[in-house]
Amino acid sequence: MIVAMQEKATEEQIISVIEVMEETGVHVHRTTGATQTILAAVGPTAGLDLSKFEVLPGVLRVHRISAPYKLAGRAFRPEGTVIEFPNGATIGGNKVAVIAGPCAVENREQIFAVAACVKAVGGGFLRGGAFKPRSSPYAFQGLGIPGLQLLHEAAQTHGLLTVSEVMEISQIEAMLPYTDCFQVGARNMQNFNLLRELGQVRRPVLLKRGIAATIEELLLSSEYIMSGGNYEVILCERGIRTYETATRNTMDIAAIPVIHKLSHLPIVGDPSHGTGRRDMVPAMAKAAVAAGADAILIEIHPNADKSASDAAQTLFLDQFEQLTRELRVIATAVGRSL
Ligand code: PEP
Ligand code: MN
Repeated sequence: MIVAMQEKATEEQIISVIEVMEETGVHVHRTTGATQTILAAVGPTAGLDLSKFEVLPGVLRVHRISAPYKLAGRAFRPEGTVIEFPNGATIGGNKVAVIAGPCAVENREQIFAVAACVKAVGGGFLRGGAFKPRSSPYAFQGLGIPGLQLLHEAAQTHGLLTVSEVMEISQIEAMLPYTDCFQVGARNMQNFNLLRELGQVRRPVLLKRGIAATIEELLLSSEYIMSGGNYEVILCERGIRTYETATRNTMDIAAIPVIHKLSHLPIVGDPSHGTGRRDMVPAMAKAAVAAGADAILIEIHPNADKSASDAAQTLFLDQFEQLTRELRVIATAVGRSL
């Protein structure tokens, strides 16, 4: 951390800032130039709240030099993390993984049709919500554990792995037998109690970026899971809320290379929630793979326009098949496979 003092800061103010800094356990290196004093803190700065120093008399600006997250930082594993599932499937390696399925599991016929399609295109992961976080309490809330059992049965039939959202701590144990990867939704990215509890399980967690979260906040949330000992975290860019109204969310494609630079964790692109529009999903899926996404998450349904949730952004199965053919070309172009 660097504290830049104002030009007019008095010696008394400088000394008092140094004292406050040292109280936190850091060493302070002082440089006084012709016009300004700079105070550099060396030591345990990760947990420091910069605003505490910004408000001290005589301080001009405070900068953070090292990241506030440690386990999620690229330096922790410079070679990158590859998450390996019990059946040998991976997320984070050279192969771009395909995670697809309906927004919500609705019935046996639907989820089995989807599973067959995901398998047919060479996808490895069947997603589907059993517990759905809906903006309206009157909207379809998901089938709960029976829905998850259907997801698991359909996945097993076709040799796929399951990804499903966990909304609260009490659901973890009941979900474990049917869930190969827990999804934490955008609305729960900062449900720190849930994240801590997921740090205790030994099962991969797909952590979605919050609707108004910065990349740093997403990485700090992953740190909650990793600091519990569960290092199998997969991040997901699913669009953020901006002033733009043409799409449901603004998909931050740049977050993909930014996260690859800052962190060793795999990053998934979710153009379904990222755009909210079926006609825009293929373009943004291709953009995500071109930008280096380690996996792509797509909502699909045999009767997409009749989906119980997120119908407008859900692809029909033939559209998804066509998209995976195109994604294969993009993946090859950027030196990967799909
Ligand atoms: C979902 O994946 O269906 C979902 C609810 O996603 P998000 O949390 O990104 O809105
Ligand atoms: Mn959805």
